[in-house]
Amino acid sequence: MTAIAAILPEELVPITYAVEAFCKAEVIGRHEKHHDLLNDPRNTFRLDGRLEDAVVEHIRAVRMASAKAGFFNVSVPASLGGADLGMIAYYTLIEHVYRLCGPHNWLCDFVISHWAFGPSAVLSAVTEEARAQILPGMMAGEKMMCFGMSEPGAGSDAAMLQTRAVPDGDGWKISGRKIWTTHIPIADYCIVFAQTDPELAAKKRGGISAFLVPTSAPGIEVESIIRMHGHIGGYEGITVFDEVKVEPWQLVGELHNGFKIGLLGVSMGRIYNSARAVGLARWALEMAIEYAQQRQAFGGPISDLQGVSFPLADAATEIHAAHLMGINVAQLLDRGERAVKELSMTKSYSVQAATRAIDQAIQTHGAMGFTNELGLHEAYARVRQANVADGTNEILARTIAQRLFKGDVEL
Ligand SMILES: Cc1cc2nc3c(=O)[nH]c(=O)nc-3n(C[C@H](O)[C@H](O)[C@H](O)COP(=O)(O)OP(=O)(O)OC[C@H]3O[C@@H](n4cnc5c(N)ncnc54)[C@H](O)[C@@H]3O)c2cc1C
Repeated sequence: MTAIAAILPEELVPITYAVEAFCKAEVIGRHEKHHDLLNDPRNTFRLDGRLEDAVVEHIRAVRMASAKAGFFNVSVPASLGGADLGMIAYYTLIEHVYRLCGPHNWLCDFVISHWAFGPSAVLSAVTEEARAQILPGMMAGEKMMCFGMSEPGAGSDAAMLQTRAVPDGDGWKISGRKIWTTHIPIADYCIVFAQTDPELAAKKRGGISAFLVPTSAPGIEVESIIRMHGHIGGYEGITVFDEVKVEPWQLVGELHNGFKIGLLGVSMGRIYNSARAVGLARWALEMAIEYAQQRQAFGGPISDLQGVSFPLADAATEIHAAHLMGINVAQLLDRGERAVKELSMTKSYSVQAATRAIDQAIQTHGAMGFTNELGLHEAYARVRQANVADGTNEILARTIAQRLFKGDVEL
């Protein structure tokens, strides 16, 4: 049975099955075998909130196995050595992976290269020297990077960032503080955004550049791990950069024009979050549908009660709409369109619809919906965060409104 009439590239069908088989063996199998380490936070995280070394090894192993199997770099441009299957493959596979794995089998985060952590079009902007140094390790899944844009005083209005790259010899010295940088505690490299021309930056006319920095460079210290949603550990870090020396080969893109790199990355992040939200919502709704048919109350299964079944019908309708929007915008991007309005609409709608759908799945399960075993709360937390990461719902509404009032009224 299929619910979608859009024609997807033929090669995606066998790849989707192959990725599914890979996830069953390399992700779900690994979680089953190492359940105590990977699924009991008391073992997964150290007291300081960082991941245990053995967990980091599993993350690397999944990336490397996926790269070897040909999945990790499926949407990485051919110029970087990837399979170049575009945003439609990115969307379709990420959605499928999360629907299959749910939040429990979280190593699935590392099956398809995420734009900020693995190879992506963002790396097209690095220098030849940087490419020679880092690309082989990144493409093999051996090395990992992260994306250091946000700061304590600069979130949605990222141009307010205060980190400075001050000229030093033929390079620069970077000083400042970054926050919310996902995976900085375990990444090998960070793309760090810093002011290179404070006057231009103050006028919001550029003046910000991006640099590729090894996280082992002298002067970098991850001072703390941010714990969220009651977790005892976390993936996001707060990092101090104290006169970190960078050379010209570490500049990413043009000097003073680093924001372009940020926007490219964040666009892919919006596709990623739309797909992940739909995948996790489908995982949750399928559980709720099954549970509602089994759970007995007032003389029959609770699925017979319209108070239970109609909200699930509404949630399924919204997720279907979000899924169609995701496939549509991925195809627009692959045709070379910028699709700024459609991408903003898709990300904002998908994460909000998924948040509502997972909340409804929790409600359908009664008290069971809150248990660690079912993992619905974990799916909720992840999707709820996506209402803020890679552009908050409000910032996306602002972008949509700006496009509409510029005359972009095609719907
Ligand atoms: C799980 C997670 C992972 C992240 N990973 C990274 C990462 O790897 N690298 C990185 O650099 N950053 C990362 N971030 C940070 C993320 O980019 C910021 O959280 C985001 O840009 C919003 O900034 P803020 O949190 O400072 O909120 P603020 O910008 O302070 O916003 C606060 C509130 O005001 C609203 N608001 C702000 N401006 C407007 C406006 N013009 N109109 C209407 N409402 C407005 C916002 O929508 C929000 O509701 C991550 C965030 C999360 C949650």
